[in-house]
Amino acid sequence: MASDKASSRISGYYKKTVEERVSIAAEMADLTSDEVELLRSGGGLGLEAADRMIENVVGTIEYPLGVAVNFRINGRDRLVPMAIEEPSVVAAASNMARLMREGDGIKASCTDPVMIGQIQVLDVPDMDGAKKALKEAKESLLDLANQQDPVLVRFGGGARDLQIRVIETEAGEMLVLHLLVDCRDAMGANAVNTMCEVLAPSVEKITGGRVLLRIISNLADHRLARAEAVVKKDDIGGEKIVDDIVAAWAFADADPYRAATHNKGIMNGVIAVALATAQDHRALESGAHAYAARSGHYRSLSRWSKNEDGDLVGVLEMPMAVGIVGGATRTHPVARLALKIMGASKAIDLAGVMAAVGLAQNLGALRALVQEGIQHGHMRLHARNLVVMAGADGNLIDRAVEALVESGEIRFDKAQEIVRRLKG
Ligand code: NAD
Repeated sequence: MASDKASSRISGYYKKTVEERVSIAAEMADLTSDEVELLRSGGGLGLEAADRMIENVVGTIEYPLGVAVNFRINGRDRLVPMAIEEPSVVAAASNMARLMREGDGIKASCTDPVMIGQIQVLDVPDMDGAKKALKEAKESLLDLANQQDPVLVRFGGGARDLQIRVIETEAGEMLVLHLLVDCRDAMGANAVNTMCEVLAPSVEKITGGRVLLRIISNLADHRLARAEAVVKKDDIGGEKIVDDIVAAWAFADADPYRAATHNKGIMNGVIAVALATAQDHRALESGAHAYAARSGHYRSLSRWSKNEDGDLVGVLEMPMAVGIVGGATRTHPVARLALKIMGASKAIDLAGVMAAVGLAQNLGALRALVQEGIQHGHMRLHARNLVVMAGADGNLIDRAVEALVESGEIRFDKAQEIVRRLKG
């Protein structure tokens, strides 16, 4: 577990060698020699574990695992592991986290980890009667649900409530029963689906209808994570930049075409941490975008404003259905290690860190967009990808990158020309 006292403010982490970065992370997170070896080996999962995880396995695919530095969340410094193939994301998160460190840094909070299971009931003969009967049967239905998962109940979770909805659809009116389940440290899809399936026969008897679907909803709007930070105007480049960032945010909040890319930037951070910790990232994506559209209009997941001192205030609130038990979180050795590096011992810790990274990432993109534009920071890494695509390897890569950047034309045809010339 990462030491509570160690500072995550590490200047020049990006300039160190992989070996040095591993050593720093190992010291901060008290990693064992086996864990250090796992990082150094660059592998992790292994075919045997992969073969137990999904069907028809023929191999594994690796992603780079980076560590974002400088994060201070609720007064505690954390290193944040991120797995992602896109350049600039880890750098932007670290840079913005540095600007957000003042005081307690980023404030993160979470609701109780409550997920929704949906039971779809068709052909209900008397809707009012069915609703009344379901309300009367609530306690016995919750008891029946909880009998399915004594472990979850022992950890303080379990079925908490029922909500009854009637919706109009193209296939007619239907009753939809929501089962609210506190999943504690699990993401909870298996737990909730099992409960919904077990309740179905009772729900049919009570309502006189026919149950069709019994499945979790990924619009986890009872399981929200929130991150909030203030960035001093002088640290971000002055009051004009603050105003421009607020105007850029307002554009995203008003326009779905812009919001889709604005929220994608937030998800760059959220999903990179999700991948590093083996979360169900499809669930997170669908939950985030459905939540962004909850008003009937697809909007920004974040909100940026200027406070009375002229400083920039950012808030991100979004569903965060993450677990540290269940799924692949415990079976993937690198995911376990990532949680240890981050020092997350509860699912709500992880959810708060992910919201904080999403907020920092969002600021990184907004700041770049209102200033030099997004391509500037990407250029060097983009040049590296281009020269590799053009056939550069070994020592030639750095020389070709230099030449390509110097040419000022970061394009594939130019990369090919340079690589051809250097190969001579
Ligand atoms: P799981 O069933 O593997 O583990 C959860 C169980 O762990 C709990 O039900 C509980 O019995 C036990 N547990 C032990 N300690 C606990 C603690 N401290 N807190 C809570 N529970 C504890 O996994 P899950 O989280 O129920 O389901 C996640 C999996 O379901 C993921 O692999 C996901 O991809 C998959 N899934 C997702 C969807 C979806 O729509 N998102 C649908 C189906 C399946």
